[in-house]
Amino acid sequence: MSSLGNRLIPAYQRDMSIDDPRRIPFQFHVVLDDNVNAFATPNGVVVVNSGLIELLDNEAQLAAVIGHEIAHATHEHTWRQQQHYKGKRLGIAIAGAVAAGYGYRGMADIAGMVNAAIVNGHSRSLENQSDRIGLQYMVAAGYDPREAPAVWKLMTKEHGLQGTNFFWSSHENNATRRSYLMNELKNNYRDLDFGALHTNEDEYARIKSTVAEAKASKKKLKVK
Ligand SMILES: [Zn+2]
Repeated sequence: MSSLGNRLIPAYQRDMSIDDPRRIPFQFHVVLDDNVNAFATPNGVVVVNSGLIELLDNEAQLAAVIGHEIAHATHEHTWRQQQHYKGKRLGIAIAGAVAAGYGYRGMADIAGMVNAAIVNGHSRSLENQSDRIGLQYMVAAGYDPREAPAVWKLMTKEHGLQGTNFFWSSHENNATRRSYLMNELKNNYRDLDFGALHTNEDEYARIKSTVAEAKASKKKLKVK
């Protein structure tokens, strides 16, 4: 997991010196959790649930998921979302006289929404940006980007069109996400030499069996 994750970090981040404040100290973890989910914190902790690992077929698909999550961190999406809601909070303050009774509850809701964004997905435009940048990261790492929309096909097959508690799709249906990625591929990756890119089924089978063993033994999961 860490070696896959590290390969997906964009070169400009990898090349930064360790004490550069712009450098994000990425870490990659798999946790035993059957929910099909993944998320990234603003300081670069990327978490993938075992339920998601079990759903996928190859390493390129996992690269699509992790690339997407890395993009949330490199593009400061949580921070942007916070700024966006701060603007709303200001709006509430201006309307303050009216909101006196309602204010605190409203603000608590807003704080909750920002935290929820990390686990349940960001706003639509930020998700699109992460999908777009995630494709760039996976191609730069040598993976076949056609496996990104395939993730959504698998999701639909296993869980229906509408994921419930799912990282990218708290309110979007899988078909929408898939067609966004297909469009990106058509518009920006048409001339790619797909034969030179990897999906890595074998490597992925190894990751999957590590997860299965950890589940069986209820041991702490360590996916290298
Ligand atoms: Zn996302």
